[in-house]
Amino acid sequence: MKMVFIGPPGIGKGSYATELSKILKIPHISTGDIFREEIKKESELGKQVKKYVEKGLLVPDEIVIKVVENRLKKEDCRNGFILDGFPRTLNQAKALDRITDIDLVLNFTAPVETIIGRISGRRICRKCGAIYHVKFMPPRVPGKCDKCGGELYQREDDKPEVVVKRLKEYEETFKPIIDYYKEKKILVTVNANRHLKEVVKDCLKILEEKGLLKSSGN
Ligand SMILES: [Zn+2]
Repeated sequence: MKMVFIGPPGIGKGSYATELSKILKIPHISTGDIFREEIKKESELGKQVKKYVEKGLLVPDEIVIKVVENRLKKEDCRNGFILDGFPRTLNQAKALDRITDIDLVLNFTAPVETIIGRISGRRICRKCGAIYHVKFMPPRVPGKCDKCGGELYQREDDKPEVVVKRLKEYEETFKPIIDYYKEKKILVTVNANRHLKEVVKDCLKILEEKGLLKSSGN
């Protein structure tokens, strides 16, 4: 089954993709992860991408599309895949249709207050980068990392006022993409305002209802 996951920052899309990728035995393809890896390897692509990332710019469509096209050609995508972080523009969505036929688009949603709570409670260790949450995953000693004793801080991007702005940007950017998939009748909205396990269970139910679980040969 060929799937695309869509959802605002902080919705937990990456976690759902990771879980479902294990259960369904299909790769979780995150363009963000691919770019980070290439930058680390200092590959030709990595060098190209780094220029944009460093300036806080979006990587141009033609580069992203090429990367996804190459990735989807790999053997492990034979039974399907989960795309996370792509498409990010309507142009990319249309390009994806030229590369392959997407079976299902899962659109994860939750109330704005929930998302703000999730993101703004996030704390990161200055020393080792470990991630905590003041409510859902608190450190043993407030403000201190369990692993290395480092100081925990809140990223500028995770402050409530910045989160509100990011969510607005998300909505504006993704509205055309969501409409596009709605029109194609392959978009299903998933309530992500619950525990990870319940969200994953719901996704599996949707796949079953769509008859996608059988076709993968599992
Ligand atoms: Zn630490």
